[in-house]
Amino acid sequence: HMSTKIALVTGANKGIGLATAEQLAQAGVKVFAASRNEAKGKAAVATLSEKGLDVTYIKLDVNSQADIDAVYEFFNSNYGRLDILVNNAGIQIESDNWGENTATDISAPALRETFDTNFFSVVSLTNTLLPLLKKSSAGRIVNLSSILGSLHLHATPGSPIYDSKLFAYNASKTALNAYTIHLAHALKNTNIQVNAAHPGWVKTDLGSNAAPMSIADGAKTSVALALAGEEGSTGKYIHLGAELPW
Ligand code: NDP
Repeated sequence: HMSTKIALVTGANKGIGLATAEQLAQAGVKVFAASRNEAKGKAAVATLSEKGLDVTYIKLDVNSQADIDAVYEFFNSNYGRLDILVNNAGIQIESDNWGENTATDISAPALRETFDTNFFSVVSLTNTLLPLLKKSSAGRIVNLSSILGSLHLHATPGSPIYDSKLFAYNASKTALNAYTIHLAHALKNTNIQVNAAHPGWVKTDLGSNAAPMSIADGAKTSVALALAGEEGSTGKYIHLGAELPW
């Protein structure tokens, strides 16, 4: 049906991405759950199909331009548009042989790998799919940032993240925030809303078991931004409906 919204969620084989795919499908969206690993991706999608949800696996390593181009071709030839893009895939390298990944102790490979996935690939995928999002009557782009991307809070004594040290990850999310603001400005005369989401500190492989939030709650910010109506925000940095400072 033409009025059924079509969504692409990256990194959807587990964690917040899988829960986002589930909640969007529960809201009646036709969801394409993308993963780089086909076996893991299909197994994850099967758990949602068994619940009667309209979720389809699509192969996408966000670091592969060939995969990105194939995803564009798929949506262009089958639907001619895309309504919702959730840039959820992300990595966090806590430490490597070089060190602890602080500003003074960071290896160039760890910095590059982190920026490739968390920043460069988001720009490539989004800009490749932009012509399809422009064909939507209400395009929505959600970039999974983190509160750890906030330069303001890093520099503000007393903030929950003051002096937090994971340099590559934090800087990659700051760069993603910059892209979010610039893209929102570039799209101001379109129907597309683009926002950065902080999901909260969530119990996933990335967030660890020490995190206070459930995965289902962690998907709520992404889902709300993806389903926002005309009154929804654009160019904002949001956690559960509240604005964060950049
Ligand atoms: P997980 O580690 O549970 O999941 C990350 C997902 O990203 C996996 O599906 C992973 O796939 C995928 N991914 C990584 N690299 C690639 C790639 N090159 N191509 C395609 N997919 C890839 O993390 P979360 O669910 O916690 O994180 C989701 C997003 O939320 C991330 O952007 C993260 O930075 C952000 N976030 C999370 C917080 C938390 O507390 N959990 C807090 C703030 C932000 P695979 O299984 O193949 O590795």
